[in-house]
Amino acid sequence: MIYYFSESAGEAVMENRIKADIAIVGGGASGLAAAIGAAGANATLKVVIAERLDKTGRKILATGNGRCNLSNRNLSGKAYHGSVNNVMDVIAETPSAEEFFGELGVLCTSDEQGRIYPYSSSAASVLNALRIRSAALGVKEVCGFEVKSIEKKNGRFLLRSEDREIECSRVIIAAGGYAAPSFGTDGGMMRLFREKGYRTAKICPAVAPFKVSREALKGLKGVRVKGKIAALSDGKVLREEYGEIQFTESTVSGICVFNLAYLMSQYEGRLSLRADLMPEMSVKKLEEYLFSVQYQRYDCTLEELLTGIFVKNLAVYLVKRAVGRPLTDKISALKYGELHRLAELIKSLEFEVTGSSPWQNAQVTSGGIHGSCINARLESKLDRGVYFAGEILDVDGDCGGYNLQWAWSSGLLAGRSCAESLKTGAKNDQDK
Ligand SMILES: Cc1cc2nc3c(=O)[nH]c(=O)nc-3n(C[C@H](O)[C@H](O)[C@H](O)COP(=O)(O)OP(=O)(O)OC[C@H]3O[C@@H](n4cnc5c(N)ncnc54)[C@H](O)[C@@H]3O)c2cc1C
Repeated sequence: MIYYFSESAGEAVMENRIKADIAIVGGGASGLAAAIGAAGANATLKVVIAERLDKTGRKILATGNGRCNLSNRNLSGKAYHGSVNNVMDVIAETPSAEEFFGELGVLCTSDEQGRIYPYSSSAASVLNALRIRSAALGVKEVCGFEVKSIEKKNGRFLLRSEDREIECSRVIIAAGGYAAPSFGTDGGMMRLFREKGYRTAKICPAVAPFKVSREALKGLKGVRVKGKIAALSDGKVLREEYGEIQFTESTVSGICVFNLAYLMSQYEGRLSLRADLMPEMSVKKLEEYLFSVQYQRYDCTLEELLTGIFVKNLAVYLVKRAVGRPLTDKISALKYGELHRLAELIKSLEFEVTGSSPWQNAQVTSGGIHGSCINARLESKLDRGVYFAGEILDVDGDCGGYNLQWAWSSGLLAGRSCAESLKTGAKNDQDK
């Protein structure tokens, strides 16, 4: 079979072996940004994207519930985790998301929490703009091409799928991690580089729900409540968030919980969650309040004790767990100690974490190619000419647009660095 570059923009014509200057493995957020970064830096370069799915950018369409939360106004190193310690430098080296997308004709807007979205509220606007620009720059997409192996021979790389090949001078690995495998990310590239001797940081689902025992959640399925939630290990609070906490029959979820998930990589087996369902009151104040409710509802059964504060299922769950009396008992029968326990439970509802959610329920991968394997330009320190971008690297961000921002910035920088290395350095290894 022969691949060649078609003159019609954006189309990969597949007929034999493709020869390119730069091949990008993965046509997701970082891969598309890398293609624009590379071809934008040097329009004479032949840039090709190898994507295993039938289309590029499938995951982008699912982001932000279809709205694509593409960045955040409050970018800070605190929102990123992992061993790549120059995340903010990479972001600073590239245009802001609003500048980048503005330049692609996408108008952006933000909400009160600083989350940036396309004005259209449609992820399709974002993907469309990336593909239009990449095609205009002459980038070719080769879809249905799953890179299975990468070899270097005589200064050239050979990327092989089951039945096809791409030969190139530089490779950008933008194949994502393990999260959300239905969008093409099964961690295959990470395994391949681990086998090549690359150091990888322990992986675990990030931006994901936590599993806790079904027994502890009995009665809470479907409950949503605003509150503080903390992750603890050995009694020490590791991080605390505020927001809507959601319960299913086996998980604790919600954006505030998602932001704690990455801690599993370090604290697996010794992590617990503690929710404060009434952060605006101290235990003492809450106790006083519960006394007043006891007075107001003295003739009702325990089932009604907290229904003026919480939704019914949660109200009943809390009373059952703290008091342990039959729910048919009268509120007036409650002793001081029981009301005190209830106040404490509302302020400190604990769950042992039993595990992470499966990859299909995770949005992001914590862990990946270790920061020590790359230089400041995102080039591999182990193999010259290999660059990395996006989630495959050991970087994960909080919920709120931080992960896509990393994908755009690392992609743009890897693409630009790669193109510059062909201009300078070993001019074009292709000629060797
Ligand atoms: C449901 C969901 C919602 C999200 N919402 C947001 C949000 O609103 N804001 C935010 O900041 N982040 C969000 N994220 C996270 C964000 O989408 C990712 O962090 C980001 O897409 C990572 O970009 P990437 O290019 O590194 O990887 P990906 O976007 O995952 O792209 C990797 C690409 O590589 C391809 N590939 C993999 N292996 C191979 C191979 N061997 N050969 C060829 N191709 C290969 C895959 O098919 C895929 O297309 C969300 C994630 C999910 C799952």
